[in-house]
Amino acid sequence: MEARKRPRRNWIQEERRKTLGDWVAFCVGCGFTLRYFVELEGEIPPTCPGCNGEVRHLCPQCDARFPSAFLVECEECGTAVRPNQIFGGPIRKAGK
Ligand SMILES: [Zn+2]
Ligand SMILES: [Zn+2]
Repeated sequence: MEARKRPRRNWIQEERRKTLGDWVAFCVGCGFTLRYFVELEGEIPPTCPGCNGEVRHLCPQCDARFPSAFLVECEECGTAVRPNQIFGGPIRKAGK
């Protein structure tokens, strides 16, 4: 899981990442997002405090992390990682 290497980003992005938090997690139900550091990964709530939807922080396909709150497709494998319709479309509950 940890073995996968990402291409390096430029230093501005690296700097920003250090101040704001390393990665992003988001609710697939309502679009709620939060930043987190890898060391604090265990503190990410599994479900959204707002809508009880799934809070996702890894690509369901390849376990890549999400560098941006606006990501809709995994940078590594191109899998859609969040429903596009949360921006303006009907909000539906996540769940299986
Ligand atoms: Zn939510
Ligand atoms: Zn992926």
